[in-house]
Amino acid sequence: MLITHANLITWEEPNRILEDHAVCLKNGLIAAIGPSPEMERTHPTEERLDARGQYVMPGSICTHTHFYGAFSRGMAIPGAAPKDFPEILGKLWWPLDKALTLEDVRYSALVCLIDAIRHGTTILVDHHASPNAIEGSLDVIAGAVEQAGLRAVLCYEVTDRNGLEGAQRGIEENVRFIRKQSTINNPQSTIRSVFGLHASLTLSDATLDACRSMLPEGSGFHIHAAESDADQYDSLAKSGLRVVDRLQKHGILGPRSILAHAVHVDAREIEILADTGTWVTHQPRSNMNNAVGVAPVESMLRADVKVCLGNDGFSNAMWEEWKAAYLVHKLWHHDPRRMSGLDVARMAVYNNAALAAVFFPESPVGVLKPGAAADLIFVDYQSPTPLSPGNLPWHILFGFHESMVTTTLVAGKVLMKDRQLLTLDEKAITARAREIAAQVWRRYAEQG
Ligand SMILES: [Zn+2]
Repeated sequence: MLITHANLITWEEPNRILEDHAVCLKNGLIAAIGPSPEMERTHPTEERLDARGQYVMPGSICTHTHFYGAFSRGMAIPGAAPKDFPEILGKLWWPLDKALTLEDVRYSALVCLIDAIRHGTTILVDHHASPNAIEGSLDVIAGAVEQAGLRAVLCYEVTDRNGLEGAQRGIEENVRFIRKQSTINNPQSTIRSVFGLHASLTLSDATLDACRSMLPEGSGFHIHAAESDADQYDSLAKSGLRVVDRLQKHGILGPRSILAHAVHVDAREIEILADTGTWVTHQPRSNMNNAVGVAPVESMLRADVKVCLGNDGFSNAMWEEWKAAYLVHKLWHHDPRRMSGLDVARMAVYNNAALAAVFFPESPVGVLKPGAAADLIFVDYQSPTPLSPGNLPWHILFGFHESMVTTTLVAGKVLMKDRQLLTLDEKAITARAREIAAQVWRRYAEQG
């Protein structure tokens, strides 16, 4: 396929913007890039996809999300409003995830995947929980992701909050799925795996050790860490150690492990994260919503911690997360110089691509260059001011909107063309989702 008449944003380092260019796609990869008239001459028989002057750029990447939370949209929480993060977990998320069946898991994933395709997010790192439908839940999500045509990294969150047997079943689901993925070992597969853990505050030392001992060779962990100060108080009470120290002691950290949030980490914990090469993800919309505080992202970046950008189950519209990150640090520190657009791009573009490459090492992702994965989006942005590689982050922060995404491709396959979804039937999926969401809400309310 030949994408013609595109203004390319390559997200190379340094970034380039190439006007009226064409991109030739072959076998799911970007085969060649060049000026459109010349490429049209040299590829006369190639199927054409005319970008009509739109920006064509790598799809966005989300490095921490929860498909299972999709049905919380519009759901009422009975009784007094949760006053802090532990109450939000206890009143909202834990009864909600207990209410999920495997069909609910499938539809909550599908509605998130529609959202991702529409908003140009092409790789998602999911963290799943459904304590009453654990076995096979990761296969159900993988099936939905394959149907959508996106890329995803999947795991099941192990926790002690549903008893030792619940924890054991979570461990087995992770191990089973990771082994299955490595057996398939298909470089074309858009599904990858990691070992999921809920958070230090719901994991005993024995469960952490059991997970470490069961971790398949070459895999890592995906866990919430120091999201609220409650996680630190719990860890200190349980072990005398702060959360990151505790996770290090139990062998959870490392260059294939992801810590979501790290809002309440001290200088020594930041040093440990840097030394172990552990990835951190920042979710400012979620942190604001839960009123847990603001992660020391700039300090972590300065210490060479690899901080990425996720959404924690908020919309798969990653430029909205860019904007939240850009704004909240300024307000929090009372200083408009904080959190430069370059730091936001460092997390959302370069660090997210590097983390995705840990799981998809076959060819570069998150970059538009020959040899890279053909995960591309078309953006209908008519810039009213000059746009250059240097000021692009501020165009995204102040001008780009996900409604401008018109076309989405993953591995060279067109998933949405001119805003028409090609792999998923949005009307049918959302109609069924509304029916089963009402049932989920009923089961959720019955637990209260
Ligand atoms: Zn999360």
